[in-house]
Amino acid sequence: MTPEMEKARALLRGASRILVFTGAGISTGSGIPDFRGPGGIWTTSEPVNYKDFIASTRAKQEYWRYKARTYPAFACAKPNAAHLAVAGLERSGRLLAVVTQNIDSLHRSAGTHTDRLVELHGSGLYAECLDCLDWVSMDRALDKFNADGAPPQCACGGWLKPAVVMFGEPLDQENLVKAFRAAEGCDLAVAVGSSLSVEPAASVPLAAKAAGKPYIIVNRGPTAQDGAADARLEGDACLLLPELFS
Ligand code: NAD
Ligand code: ZN
Repeated sequence: MTPEMEKARALLRGASRILVFTGAGISTGSGIPDFRGPGGIWTTSEPVNYKDFIASTRAKQEYWRYKARTYPAFACAKPNAAHLAVAGLERSGRLLAVVTQNIDSLHRSAGTHTDRLVELHGSGLYAECLDCLDWVSMDRALDKFNADGAPPQCACGGWLKPAVVMFGEPLDQENLVKAFRAAEGCDLAVAVGSSLSVEPAASVPLAAKAAGKPYIIVNRGPTAQDGAADARLEGDACLLLPELFS
């Protein structure tokens, strides 16, 4: 065991209300690419902005085309050893909350209880109606889109939008409040697989640290908050988390 792992496990031993904050890197082991890694999504396409999506049929079409391309990898992904280790932490009674930036819903599939889960950026498995706010499955929305290439609409006539936070779209306030409340209420924060550079999400684990809670970062490659970590585990989350949480 590395000295850094020993230090991190010692912090774990003293904790009973742990906040786990996750990003795209926890899901690369499930075959979903992160944004900034090689072959990451934005190396091949430009993100569509929320305002443009709302205003223009062409932007809606472009965004739905991008979803049609990327959704299959989401639809068949399975939780990996890191998601399962987080679910195990909950079963052992030491998890306060999981706050994730991911839209792949793999924490849910791994067994993390929805009461303890905050999906800050929404869920890519659903689309929502901009008018009546009804949710339909992404499968159904994409079937409509693939049938004629027109942006899909709800039964009420409103436009459907993937139920994820787009670039330029504000985050759900209720989710943000829950996330920062967990940062206040935890006795240890663990950030996993995130470059910790997307705001306001990245401020959640840092708020715990600012409130005096110990902070562990698990990531392959540098993060924007390495200097704030009390223990810093470098490498694959699928290998490190089971060891950290066992
Ligand atoms: P990011 O791409 O900025 O950072 C991911 C980090 O994880 C990188 O530093 C990378 O080196 C590291 N990493 C990759 N594989 C790893 C592994 N196996 N073990 C440990 N670390 C690993 O991602 P972010 O911080 O989540 O922020 C980007 C935005 O991307 C978020 O807003 C999120 O909504 C979105 N996103 C989500 C998904 C998903 O739902 N799975 C995928 C791509 C992007
Ligand atoms: Zn509707």
